[in-house]
Amino acid sequence: MSNALPKIAWIGLGIMGSPMSENLIKAGYDVTGFTLEQDKLDRLTAAGGTAAGSIAEAVRDADVIVTMVPASPQVEAISYGPDGILENARSGALLIDMSSITPQTSVDLAKAAQDKGIRVLDAPVSGGEAGAIEAVLSIMVGGEQADFDLAKPILEALGKTIVLCGPHGSGQTVKAANQLIVAVNIQACAEAVVFLEKSGVDLKAALDVLNGGLAGSTVLTRKKDNFLARDFKPGFRIDLHHKDMGIVTDAARNVGAALPVGAVVAQLVASLRAQGDGGLDHSALLRAVERLSGAQV
Ligand code: NAD
Repeated sequence: MSNALPKIAWIGLGIMGSPMSENLIKAGYDVTGFTLEQDKLDRLTAAGGTAAGSIAEAVRDADVIVTMVPASPQVEAISYGPDGILENARSGALLIDMSSITPQTSVDLAKAAQDKGIRVLDAPVSGGEAGAIEAVLSIMVGGEQADFDLAKPILEALGKTIVLCGPHGSGQTVKAANQLIVAVNIQACAEAVVFLEKSGVDLKAALDVLNGGLAGSTVLTRKKDNFLARDFKPGFRIDLHHKDMGIVTDAARNVGAALPVGAVVAQLVASLRAQGDGGLDHSALLRAVERLSGAQV
């Protein structure tokens, strides 16, 4: 890498990837992107980036490759095989996977990449779409200290709290814990909303005062208006949180940690998805509580 800013390839320009890559462009980085939807590629071009026609084309000249796709199968699809990142990136490149995936997938990817001379960090994020737009994400990183040091200036253009948590896979383990806490928190807020409404108090006033005390949370701050307006446009899709509850449940079982409340909330997320709400924001857990409380929603 020269003294100039590293050249970035960005794979996966969805709800998170689009605003995050745009923040890198604003910070002066040269970003070439690839994703499956043409409108997202057009958005990247309009923001000052370059649209590539394939993963191979996007990563060929990159110093740093950032990936932000839905889950482990997509990370494997973009990384492996003749058209994938490992086959087409240059030796010495750094691959930062910011998707939320199983810790084991991250460990396996780091091992496979090492054979190609490519270094890897797992760097999943928390903070949602708003956090991505505002560049205030929390970024939990797994991998080597030297690679973390190299990635730090790039990550600082995307987030505020950036922590190396341990070896490969550690970022994903911390992210799994994050998703457990967020789901349980949303569920508690949703139960409070139904309870408050059925009790006939002013819901907005109640949520405002609750959020100023010990019951307050980033979840309540970010999702209060979704609850009030029943606006469940994603945001973070129930489908993705279902994936994450699977990751944390499985990882906890592997290490012998009991998650009794997490297991119940995982079932509620799964039920919501089975009822056709998988494309809604995770604040739609409110709909599950409303149905359990007799409402036809
Ligand atoms: P999304 O579905 O909006 O975007 C995913 C993008 O990946 C799409 O644009 C798609 O084109 C691209 N993609 C999938 N397969 C591909 C392939 N083979 N080649 C190229 N591109 C491919 O998802 P999102 O909400 O942006 O989430 C991305 C990741 O970030 C997930 O792991 C999610 O769990 C995590 N995350 C999301 C949020 C959130 O609030 N949305 C918050 C924190 C973490």
